[in-house]
Amino acid sequence: MTKISNHLPTAELQALDAAHHVHPFTTQTELAERGARVITGAQGCWLTDSEGHSILDAMAGLWCVNIGYGRTELAEVAARQMTELPYYNTFFMTTHAPVIALSKKLAELAPEGLNKVMFASSGSEANDTNIRLVRTYWAEKGKPEKQTIISRWNAYHGSSVGSGSLGGMKGMHMQGGLPIPGIHHIDQPDWWSEGGDMSPEDFGLERAQQLEKAILELGEENVAAFIAEPVQGAGGVIVPPETYWPEIQRICDKYEILLIADEVICGFGRTGHWFGSQAVGIRPDIMTIAKGLSSGYQPIGGSILSDEVAEVIGATEFNHGYTYSGHPVASAVALENLRILDEEGVVETFGSVTAPYLKEKFEGLARHPMVGEAKIVGGMGSIALTPDAESRAKFKAPGGTVGYMVRERCFANNLVMRHVGDRMIISPPLVISKEEIDTLIERAWTSLDEAMAQVKAEGLWEAA
Ligand SMILES: *Cc1c(COP(=O)(O)O)cnc(C)c1O
Repeated sequence: MTKISNHLPTAELQALDAAHHVHPFTTQTELAERGARVITGAQGCWLTDSEGHSILDAMAGLWCVNIGYGRTELAEVAARQMTELPYYNTFFMTTHAPVIALSKKLAELAPEGLNKVMFASSGSEANDTNIRLVRTYWAEKGKPEKQTIISRWNAYHGSSVGSGSLGGMKGMHMQGGLPIPGIHHIDQPDWWSEGGDMSPEDFGLERAQQLEKAILELGEENVAAFIAEPVQGAGGVIVPPETYWPEIQRICDKYEILLIADEVICGFGRTGHWFGSQAVGIRPDIMTIAKGLSSGYQPIGGSILSDEVAEVIGATEFNHGYTYSGHPVASAVALENLRILDEEGVVETFGSVTAPYLKEKFEGLARHPMVGEAKIVGGMGSIALTPDAESRAKFKAPGGTVGYMVRERCFANNLVMRHVGDRMIISPPLVISKEEIDTLIERAWTSLDEAMAQVKAEGLWEAA
């Protein structure tokens, strides 16, 4: 039997993949017809595929490879840890050095007053933890009715039953009986698509005040928490108007509502700060972390708790945890990732040098005739595709038709840029150089030109 490795022809790997591997968020029959792109290696910001293409990864994998690909230090730490202690759990009054060191490092990096971490292996698991945790918190405080969690439409908080319910993706809710009871969704602060004639500032306030309305409707005594991404990621990099977050913080303070910042994407330098909460100026009670925590080199996530939340939860046995909570190898690798992000000044340099350059270049894409707004916070950027920027028009073709065309042209031009509906988004590794940013923008522009020609040729250049 031949070993399945990169040495097999692409078509053979694709056939085997289609025969036996079910992909996330994919129509399997379509994939089987086209064949998956086979990634064989990566270095820095660049992927290599089985056909020998060198592809600029402007998405850092799935928003996670903040440190860039190919850092052998992380591999060495993993090998050492696997040899010394590949696994032990942290149930039953046991612990180990990697999880202690990682917890301490996170407490140092996190905003003041957030000093304790409960671990998981992913963002979804961590948000599932948060659902049980905030409800248990209020029960312990003698307010067992405070159970409802308010979230937002088009938020992404994960794919498990609990976290998928927290999220506001209607396509996910439609499958498998979501959402679970006790989750309430309000509208997102997406001015471009939903702002109508309002100014962004007024619209931001209006959307924040929906939280207050929901709390009053549901009754403050029934609401446990509000969860949100400081900047929505998977929803299309929705940058809220500046009025939004201060008003949300005011409302959470006024009514006793815990604020959960889902930092799975925004954390670890992505916004130009260590945490997105710092970029938007909020004081969360809980932060969900994953993705950039290990730069994707190992699966690990968690919840960083405020001292007050930790104290209340700590006074009882919280019957919750995962076999791999605080996994020693994942912890050691995450710690090494944080050490490099910190000691090599990756986050610092990104925030002060790279992000301003990226912003200038990225915002230039707004001059393209098919682009409306171009918004970017640190390393999370998004452009809105439109046939008429002035009126913020949508295309007449079903949402995502044009976005998909642009994405296909990006792929053809060896650039990974994702589309969410008719928005194109980027989230490159934080180690991206100025030259690579120039390449990114050039390839994006070319892809937009090509897609626009195609849109016109196919008679799709028409506003809804
Ligand atoms: C990716 C993501 C999650 C889910 O993380 P997984 O590791 O895929 O389970 C949760 N919240 C946000 C904001 C995310 O982007």
